[in-house]
Amino acid sequence: MGTIDKNIIEKAGARGCDNSDYNIVKTTCCNSYLVEDDELNDVYFDPEDLKNVIDVTHSGECPICGSSTWDYKKLNEWPKEKTKWQWAYHQNQEFVDKWLKK
Ligand SMILES: [Zn+2]
Repeated sequence: MGTIDKNIIEKAGARGCDNSDYNIVKTTCCNSYLVEDDELNDVYFDPEDLKNVIDVTHSGECPICGSSTWDYKKLNEWPKEKTKWQWAYHQNQEFVDKWLKK
């Protein structure tokens, strides 16, 4: 299971497949939060429009800052700082809020 709720993000338009798991990741070039589909190598970079997605196996540039030497790190838990992806963390927002306040 990923840090991003599969049901929520697919309802919002993610194009994943049955085996897709979604994780929040942070870029090493510009510290931006993105969501990766670890099955398809898709990366979603716009929390307001999931049509904005790239296939990382074919993309040479960071979708946020344009760096050509970009990379990202998968986070194994939700970041404590606010991100624009919070709506997709967990179906129970109270659960999310509690976790973030800890
Ligand atoms: Zn970047």
